[in-house]
Amino acid sequence: MKYALITGASRGIGRAIALRLSSKYKIIINYCSRADKANEVKALIEAQGGSAELLPFDVSDSKQTDLALSSWEENHQGEYISLLVNNAGIRKDNVMFMMSDEEWREVLDITLNGFFYVTRRLLKHMMPRKHGGRIINVSSLSGLKGMAGQVNYSAAKAALIGATKALALEVAPRNITVNAVAPGFIDTDMTQDLPKEELKKLVPVGRFGTSEEVASLVEYLSSDDAAYITGEVISINGGLYT
Ligand code: NAP
Repeated sequence: MKYALITGASRGIGRAIALRLSSKYKIIINYCSRADKANEVKALIEAQGGSAELLPFDVSDSKQTDLALSSWEENHQGEYISLLVNNAGIRKDNVMFMMSDEEWREVLDITLNGFFYVTRRLLKHMMPRKHGGRIINVSSLSGLKGMAGQVNYSAAKAALIGATKALALEVAPRNITVNAVAPGFIDTDMTQDLPKEELKKLVPVGRFGTSEEVASLVEYLSSDDAAYITGEVISINGGLYT
């Protein structure tokens, strides 16, 4: 069985992806602070007969990321991570004229720099293998169309799409696919403070999506059936933006 690293797998969409992929991969659960929630995911995977391990690190910290992944490699000689889901992300919404340096930097650091630090590290081992690999980046509808109050988040998610397309071209000859998913409103902790009843009316299918629906799309992109899809951004938004 191969290994899959899912960043931000303690809650929400990352948790659903970890659970969904656990019948096909040994799961590495990354998180930043919520060890309680990460342990819950691990226990659930093990209860389903799967294999899971915790790998906490802050994806926005280059040194922490390198240290954590180096120690994983030391403990798993001869193994490599063949599926990476860059899912960790945060929102720090504000109108731009009021936005602080921290609000701008934190969102860019976790979404964009996090993608860079983790992916660069894993490519080192993915590239030389003949079995290749899969990289799936969790972008957002905000990165495709832009959202008022989310200049930081929209910029980070749009940059992630550019990086997805460029990296896909770089690594295609190595049998590695790189794709992004762009969810609309998904019911998770991240969207708990939003006016859900109002926003639901904007969505043609009339509801928020579930983490499991996003996980199902990620599962497809990670499968052998998706081997000819690369450099794509797949929307999953209930028709909100087509
Ligand atoms: P969530 O429920 O708030 O979960 C966020 C996850 O990211 C948690 O597991 C958290 O770990 C982890 N995380 C945060 N900062 C981190 C860091 N510095 N290093 C490592 N892990 C970190 O959010 P979600 O809704 O599932 O969102 C997951 C992804 O989907 C994000 O990239 C988000 O931008 C994207 N997305 C969400 C929606 C939506 O409507 N929910 C829509 C479009 C895109 P801890 O538990 O340790 O804090």
